[in-house]
Amino acid sequence: MADQPNIAIEVKDLSFSYGDSKVLDSISFEVEKNKLCALVGPNGSGKSTLIKCITGLLNGYTGRAQVNCTHKHQSHSIGYVPQRLFISERVPVSVFEAVSTGRILGSRKWFRLNAKDKEVIEHSIDSVGLLGHRNCRIDELSGGQQQRLLIAKALVSEPEVLILDEPTAGIDSQSQELFRNAIDHTIQEHNTTVLLVSHELSAVSDLVDQILVLKNSIIFNGTVQELSEHGVSVGLHEHDLPFWLERFKTDELRKSK
Ligand code: ADP
Repeated sequence: MADQPNIAIEVKDLSFSYGDSKVLDSISFEVEKNKLCALVGPNGSGKSTLIKCITGLLNGYTGRAQVNCTHKHQSHSIGYVPQRLFISERVPVSVFEAVSTGRILGSRKWFRLNAKDKEVIEHSIDSVGLLGHRNCRIDELSGGQQQRLLIAKALVSEPEVLILDEPTAGIDSQSQELFRNAIDHTIQEHNTTVLLVSHELSAVSDLVDQILVLKNSIIFNGTVQELSEHGVSVGLHEHDLPFWLERFKTDELRKSK
């Protein structure tokens, strides 16, 4: 990794099994810094398992999964946005407070928010279009607004690599547009590398630099342009996946960088 300073994520010959069931088979790919890589594949193809190996939530794999970071602690360099926000109804938390916890966990153990922290938090809330909801309780937000709140929370730790798991699932078109703008802003302004797990790429199709199609092994790794040369468009919806996978069965489409 040290001799490849422009690579943010490197996965090499990674295999993982749950018991006797091999879920990931010899996965190898790289994601360059400051790029958006989309990871797609049908349900059960191993996307979440791969993400867990990369983020360090799962051990016991063979091969290598590495995030190239400049922070001493890798956990501070990876922002992870899960599929859903867990809300405790007994503890009323405002948008500002919820986003602040990302800053606290992402930096140091004991601290008081200073002016710089507050600025970063306000800026992150603004970048996902929630500044008008700054003081609202998070359980009063819509599903799309909660999803954007999770992104703001991940952004306040100023991660070098941002990993999003199905961020646009079930959110309305206005939230999709705001989500797209927040991701664009993050890549441009913070030089963040984004790994996006999705069934549905239409909201960010103009931002995607690299597409990985996973079905236990990588069956396609290339650019949007390369994909379109095979007659497959990126406005990908879940129901198109069987069609995609059928196309990727042909050897000429198999591609691994
Ligand atoms: P995806 O995210 O693409 O839907 P997953 O990584 O969640 O795929 O799952 C890949 C396969 O591993 C599926 O067959 C799933 O049932 C299985 N699996 C996932 N988690 C576990 C687990 N904790 N124990 C056993 N099998 C699992």
